[in-house]
Amino acid sequence: MLGQMMHRPLHIADILTFAAEIHGQEGIVSATVEGGRHRQTWKETGVRARKLGAALQRLGIGAGDRVATLAWNGYRHIELYYGIPGIGGVCHTINPRLSAEQIIYIVNHAEDRILFFDLTFLPHVEKLAAHFPADMKYVLMTDAAHMPKDSALDLLCYEDLLAAEDGTLVWPEFSEDTAAGLCYTSGTTGNPKGALYSHRSQVLHAFTVALSMQDAMRVGRRILPVVPLFHANSWGLAHAAPLTGATLVMPGPHLDGPSLFTLMEEETVFSAWGVPTVWLGLKAEIEKQGRLPEGFAEVVIGGSAAAPSLIEAFESRGVDVVHAWGMTEMSPIGTLTKLDPATQAGPIEDRLPLKATQGHRAFGVEMKIVDEDGHPQPHDGTAVGELFVRGNGVVAGYYDNAEATAKALDADGWFGTGDVAAITPDGYLKITDRTKDLIKSGGEWISSIDVENMAMAHPDIANCAVIAVPHPKWDERPVLIAVPAEGKTPDCADILRHLGAHFAKWQLPDDVVFVDTLPLTATGKVSKLTLRQEYADHTLP
Ligand code: ADP
Repeated sequence: MLGQMMHRPLHIADILTFAAEIHGQEGIVSATVEGGRHRQTWKETGVRARKLGAALQRLGIGAGDRVATLAWNGYRHIELYYGIPGIGGVCHTINPRLSAEQIIYIVNHAEDRILFFDLTFLPHVEKLAAHFPADMKYVLMTDAAHMPKDSALDLLCYEDLLAAEDGTLVWPEFSEDTAAGLCYTSGTTGNPKGALYSHRSQVLHAFTVALSMQDAMRVGRRILPVVPLFHANSWGLAHAAPLTGATLVMPGPHLDGPSLFTLMEEETVFSAWGVPTVWLGLKAEIEKQGRLPEGFAEVVIGGSAAAPSLIEAFESRGVDVVHAWGMTEMSPIGTLTKLDPATQAGPIEDRLPLKATQGHRAFGVEMKIVDEDGHPQPHDGTAVGELFVRGNGVVAGYYDNAEATAKALDADGWFGTGDVAAITPDGYLKITDRTKDLIKSGGEWISSIDVENMAMAHPDIANCAVIAVPHPKWDERPVLIAVPAEGKTPDCADILRHLGAHFAKWQLPDDVVFVDTLPLTATGKVSKLTLRQEYADHTLP
């Protein structure tokens, strides 16, 4: 027997309509590309998104058309997040840190019709445009005063487009399964692959984020998404914040520790979200000033493993660390370490080990770990296997890429994450590695994350990565590449002694190389692929 309830389609634009009506006074604070800080309520954002939707229709955009963005975190980017899918288009966010070759590939693969971009990217876009579809339209996300006098491109001005509309557009109705957003993974090998989100998946994911992060997700809270809108939906913040009445404080292009500290303090940011490398910068600034930015209470760390030393640095100052794991292909939130209030208020030594894991699954995400033959492994905290996931926010395939789709899904339709993990009996996920980052030495696996976490606990190390270097006898051996802490000159033997107290001898790095900086991927994570290439011929001592 079927239930007898109405079936109203879940639509992204309804989130903003709701926010404008119910949380109208909250909104977006943006450090802008043009300079200065811009403030706008959800009510104003609602009107501007409708104007944008009408302008897009006037430019010929209709159902299913892909509209690309190349932009930092700011209010106009949020308007695009609603205006494009609101009229049935697909908001294709492009990561500006991808190589020119990758950007050209994805713009053509997606067959984008219009590109909206920030002033910062004008020189880049002018260079790449020759390789983009010939009928592509270009909209500069600025006002008339900041439009360039001469450009090789026929540019449209964002604010002029909006000024020509009256904001009375009524969002059209369509199926909740309609495509709404498109984001390509950075693709460390091969071409990038597109995750094509639907209205339904985005709204359900927003509910999940709102439910999982209730301290931050409420009226009056101010949240800083350092995680970009151009990557994996800014971890759902673009939707969950207006849904719950939180205000977004957008950092614009300046993501260094001192700039973030100042912005957070001046805007009393409660919760800040981003990858570990960003938080290393903020941690250094907090240590320099000997205090936290006023009002800072929660930090979400994800995208790559958060080292226990980084977690402790924030927790010991009273900041609740939420360690999160997810993927572009999962909308992206999968698991989080938001603890129950009693454990969070309890002794720090009880909660640190829990926060060093990737946490509990969010509602709607199912997880299994399997061995090399695809057999499910027990969730006993010890058995390790490749992690597969299932849920309404998980891709059922890659956009227009049957080959990658076939590789990604198992016979039962679960998505293979490419991560290796254990799951404890009480449901905590412990990621050991990415399959491609694992080190196989003499037939035994070494977890690069475990060794990195321990190396990061050494006071002379600011950041590090453990990579596999080819070895004639053992196939691969681990090498630690480390950035010394400011003012320190660490000694290789001392670092190995420190690690030796925690690992078997065969698990220890064969060498420690000190460098000034580590290469980063387009999503701000340490690029182990680049390091493996750089150190492929490294002579081991
Ligand atoms: P990209 O590869 O383009 O950076 P994603 O952001 O989708 O794209 O990366 C997802 C991957 O990042 C996961 O499969 C996992 O390997 C890694 N990851 C994300 N969060 C964590 C975490 N908390 N701990 C360890 N690894 C993580």
